[in-house]
Amino acid sequence: MGRANAQAQAFPAIDAAAPDRRRAPEDVRRRQLIDATIDSLAEIGFNASTLAQIARRAGVSPGLVAHYFGDKDGLLEATLRFLSLRLYRATAARLREARGPRARVQALIDANLAPEEFDQRTSSVWLAFWGQVLHSERLRRVQRVYQARMLANLRHDLRGLVARGEVGRIAITIAAVIDGLWLRSSLSAAGETDSVSARQVAALFVDAQIAAATPAVSLNGPDVMNASPPRHANHIGGQYRPTGGVSFETRNPATGEVLAEIEIAGEAEVDAAVAIARKGQKLWAAKTGAERGRILKRAAELLRARNDELARLETLDTGKPIQETLVVDVASGADCIEYYAGLAAGLSGEHVDLGPTAFGYTRREPLGIVAGIGAWNYPLQIACWKSAPALACGNAMLFKPAELTPLTALKLAEIYAEAGVPEGVFNVVQGFAETGRLLTRHPGIAKVSLTGEVGTGKKVMVDAAGTLKYVTLELGGKSPLIVFDDADLDDAVSGALLANFYSAGEVCSNGTRVFVHEKVRPAFLEKLVARVERMVVGDPLDPATQVGALISPDHMEKVLSYIAKGKAEGAKLLVGGARVTANGLDKGAFVAPTVFDGCTEAMSIVREEIFGPVMAVLSFTDEDEVIARANDTDFGLAAGVFTRDLARGHRVIARLEAGTCWINHYNITPIELPFGGAKQSGLGRENGKAAIEHYTQLKSVYVNLGRVEAPY
Ligand code: NDP
Repeated sequence: MGRANAQAQAFPAIDAAAPDRRRAPEDVRRRQLIDATIDSLAEIGFNASTLAQIARRAGVSPGLVAHYFGDKDGLLEATLRFLSLRLYRATAARLREARGPRARVQALIDANLAPEEFDQRTSSVWLAFWGQVLHSERLRRVQRVYQARMLANLRHDLRGLVARGEVGRIAITIAAVIDGLWLRSSLSAAGETDSVSARQVAALFVDAQIAAATPAVSLNGPDVMNASPPRHANHIGGQYRPTGGVSFETRNPATGEVLAEIEIAGEAEVDAAVAIARKGQKLWAAKTGAERGRILKRAAELLRARNDELARLETLDTGKPIQETLVVDVASGADCIEYYAGLAAGLSGEHVDLGPTAFGYTRREPLGIVAGIGAWNYPLQIACWKSAPALACGNAMLFKPAELTPLTALKLAEIYAEAGVPEGVFNVVQGFAETGRLLTRHPGIAKVSLTGEVGTGKKVMVDAAGTLKYVTLELGGKSPLIVFDDADLDDAVSGALLANFYSAGEVCSNGTRVFVHEKVRPAFLEKLVARVERMVVGDPLDPATQVGALISPDHMEKVLSYIAKGKAEGAKLLVGGARVTANGLDKGAFVAPTVFDGCTEAMSIVREEIFGPVMAVLSFTDEDEVIARANDTDFGLAAGVFTRDLARGHRVIARLEAGTCWINHYNITPIELPFGGAKQSGLGRENGKAAIEHYTQLKSVYVNLGRVEAPY
C-alpha cells in the first residue's frame, strides 16, 4: 500500500480544523481527544493505546470517549480521517496555486513530502496506522479513498504530459517513489533524507519518467488529450463551477474504464453553495405551490425525454443492466418529480376553530436549505426521491452523490436549471464522506436526508445533532420474505428473484432471508434453481443482460468473501457462488446469482447485509415461529409474505417489524406509498404524502378577534 496515498500529511501548515469557524464545544472536545490519540500513538504505539489510557491523557472519563466515538476503532477511524483531511486541504491549497500539469504533479509531491512529514512524532503515528490498515476494514476504507484520490490527481495531470497509454503506469510509479522516500527516511535512524532532498529526488524522478515517455501531444498524430475523460466541476447556482482543485475518478465497474474526473467540493465550495442556495430558496419559496409544480412538471418531462441517454449513463456508472435502467431508474425519478409537482399546489395548513373570539391556523413552511446525501445503488433515483419533495415544499437542496456514482445527479441539476428552477435551488456538491460531513455539520443547513449504511446513518445523526438538524435516514436491511405452503409457487419464486437479484442484489430492501415452508421447500427450490441457472450475466449495455456488474472491485471482494463464509459456515450452495469472468467480463466486477439452502440464523450470510446477489433460504413449519425468526434482527426495512390466504397475509404483515411490506409481491415501490425503515433501518419516510412532513415545518398562529384582558 502507498504511504503517500494511504496516509495524510500529518501536521502541515494548513490545519484541518483551523478554518472551521463552526467549531462548537463538542468539536473542541472531539479535537482534544483526537490530539490525545495522536500523542498516545506517537509515544506508546498502537497496542498500548487503549481507550482508558487515551481518556486519562485527555483528562476525561472513558465514558465520554465512548460517547463521542463508540469504541477504540471509532476513535482511531476519526483520528485517521482527521489526519487525512489535513493532507487533503494541504494538497488542495498547493494545487490551487500550481499552474500547468508539471507544476501540479510537483504540488502533490510537495504536499506529501512537506517538512512536517519528516517530524518523528508524525512519522510514528503514520507508521502505527500503516500497521493496522490491513486488519481493519474501517481504516482500510479511509486509506482507499486517499489512494484513489492521489492516483486520480496524478493521472489527471500526467495526461497533459505523457501519452495516454503510459499514464497509469507512471502515476503508480510516482506514488510508489513518494511512499518509498518517506518510508525509508522514517525507518532509518540516521534520517537519510529530509524534506528538501526527498522532494528533489522525486522531482528528478518525475522529469526522467516524462522525458522517457511518449509525449502527450504528438505533432503529427491526433491530440491524445482529446481522448482524456471529461472533468466535471460541482454544479452550484445553476452552473458548473470549476476550481481546478483536487479531483477523483469515476469508473465503469463493468470494464474498469475511467468515465470522468470529478472535482471535490471542499469547505469553500459548500459555503458558496449554501450562500447561493439561501438566495435561491427565498425566491423559490415565494412562488405559489402551483408555480413550483409547473416547473417541476417540466423537469419530469425533460427527464422522460432523455430517458435513454440517462439510462445509458447510469448503466456505465453503476454497472446495472441497461434493461433495468431504461425502464426503472429514470422513470422512477420522473414519476417522483411529477407526483410532488402535483402535490405542490395542495400544500396547506389547517384552520382551527377556537370559539367566537379567536381562531387559529397553521402554516406549512419550508425548512430552508436541506442536504441530500446519496448511496451508489440508485444514484439518479435517490437524487430525485430526495429533491422532488424538498423542492415541491419550497426548500433549496445541496445534494452529494456517492463518490462511486457522481454522474447522473449532475444531469439532474442541468435538467432542473433548464426547466426553470431558480439558481441555487438545486446544487450538486461532489466528494467523499468529508464533503458529506461539511453538509451534516453546516449551520446554514436545516435538514439532512441520507441514504446509506446503518453505520453512516449513526454518524450523520451525531453530526447533525451539533446544529440540531432534522434527519431522514434510509439505511440498510436484511429483510425477510416468507413463503407459506399455500403460496402460488411460481409467483413466490418470481418474488424471491425480484427480492434478490435485481441490480445484482444491490437493493436496500432486498428480501435476502427467504423463509420457505418445509412442505413446499423442495418444489420451491427446484423451480428457483432452474430459473437462476437461466439468468444472463453479461455486458450491462447488452439489452439481453439480466445481471450486470457490482459497483466496484472492492465491493465484489466483499460479496465473494460472504459467499466463502456461507460455504465455511455450512450452508449448501445450490447455484452460482463465484465470480464471472468468461466472455470478456474479466475486467469487471461480476458475480453469479447465488442461492444457499440449509441456512440458519447463526450464519453471517443470514445476519449481515451483503448487498450482492446472494440469497439465503431457510426452512420453517409454524407461523409464530417464522414471525419470531423474521423479526430477530436489528434491521427493519422491508418484508414480504406469499400466501393465498389473505387473512393470514394481513395478520403476518401486521406482526412483522418492517417499514415497507408486500403481500404476494416484492420490491415494488410506487411513489404514492411511503418508503422507509423501522428499527435500525431508518428514520422518517420518503415518497407519498408522508415525505411532505419531513420537508416542512408547521407554524401555529393564534388570531384574536376580541379585546385583550390582562390581570395587571
Ligand atoms: P454509505 O453509507 O457508505 O454512503 C452513503 C453516502 O454517505 C455516500 O454519499 C457517502 O459518501 C456518504 N457518507 C459516508 N460517510 C459519511 C459521513 N460520516 N457523513 C456524511 N456523509 C457520509 O452507503 P453506500 O453508498 O455504500 O450504499 C450502500 C448502503 O446504502 C447499503 O447499506 C444500503 O442498504 C443502503 N441503502 C439504503 C436505501 C434505503 O432507502 N433504505 C436505499 C439504497 C441503499 P462516500 O460514498 O463518498 O463515502
